[in-house]
Amino acid sequence: MIKLAAPQISEQALQAVRDVLTSGWLVQGERVAELEASIVELTRIEHAVAVSSGTAALHTGLVALGIAPGDAVAVSAYSYVATANVVEVCGATPVFVDIDPGTFNMDPAALERVLEQPRESPIKALIVVHAFGQMADLDAITEIAARHEIPIIEDAACALGATWAGSPPGARTAMACFSFHPRKAITTGEGGMIVTRERNNAAAMRAFRNHGLDPDAAAPDFAAVGLNYRMTDFQAVLGNVALGDLEGGISQRRRLAKRYDELLADMVEVPRAAPQSGHVYQSYVVLLGPGEARVRPQLIAALAERGVESTIGTWAIPTTSFYRRRYGYTEESFPVTSDVFARSLSLPLHEGIEADDQDQVVEALREAFEEL
Ligand SMILES: *Cc1c(COP(=O)(O)O)cnc(C)c1O
Repeated sequence: MIKLAAPQISEQALQAVRDVLTSGWLVQGERVAELEASIVELTRIEHAVAVSSGTAALHTGLVALGIAPGDAVAVSAYSYVATANVVEVCGATPVFVDIDPGTFNMDPAALERVLEQPRESPIKALIVVHAFGQMADLDAITEIAARHEIPIIEDAACALGATWAGSPPGARTAMACFSFHPRKAITTGEGGMIVTRERNNAAAMRAFRNHGLDPDAAAPDFAAVGLNYRMTDFQAVLGNVALGDLEGGISQRRRLAKRYDELLADMVEVPRAAPQSGHVYQSYVVLLGPGEARVRPQLIAALAERGVESTIGTWAIPTTSFYRRRYGYTEESFPVTSDVFARSLSLPLHEGIEADDQDQVVEALREAFEEL
């Protein structure tokens, strides 16, 4: 089976994990501090705070910004459900924003419309998603958010190594959140990281991930409420070893994506990268024509029969059962998101894939189209 994603764990990583496990110090120690320092070096953003998942990173970020019951938070409608769930968990209301059909990222014009509508709960923050490894249009979005005085959290779960106009996630906003889940650029099993330029945000996040313990107090002092969102040191070393080959992995993904673009151009709509965008292709997501989209489950099954794993892109969050029931959304509420959700198909792309595998994927798709 040609898998959608395949986490690469080197011999060096296995040995590093073994060393930690036998060292006697397992949780939020020197190895976690090293991973934070490596992320600071990579992104050139002053503060990095490691947590237990990308979801924990987003939740911690909202808490640091003071998001509370009664607030509203603008959120990209097309993302993994975690992006909106963290807002609900804070007791706040996600206000969804439709996307651009070419990049799958938040449409600045739709954001402008959402922010101009009168509403009971004020919008206190904005979570912008960098879908599938391509950053959203931060030129337009930071300008709009600044005009409305709304801080931005970047959901950069899939965008480690990506850039917009040369800047990485976190360079122009309140913070950016990364995930180290096995489907992301580097993995620690579960894991996440927040980067921020603001010292006070970083201190609040360090406290929240560790039961509210003040990170700067001389004697232990629980100065806030918090959770246990700590990362273990054996996870952190996995991240540190993998970071050493981040650039190599990204170049390979870009090469493979370009080759898919050429091979698939006459069959599907291939992903579009904006000229300002340093896309890292965490996933390679194409859009099917309307006819093929109607039989997508059969198409995914036909690909699997030919040894090719595939899946949908990501979720139209407003029309998942929970959000539909709670807010009464329909497919018409966010038409672009609904259309992309119905037509997207994610194809195998990872560091272990070679040209032969790609040819097999393309051939399998061609056969499946003919069969259906
Ligand atoms: C993976 C992902 C998350 C959640 O990250 P976890 O580490 O799995 O908690 C959130 N948002 C997006 C866009 C993601 O792709």
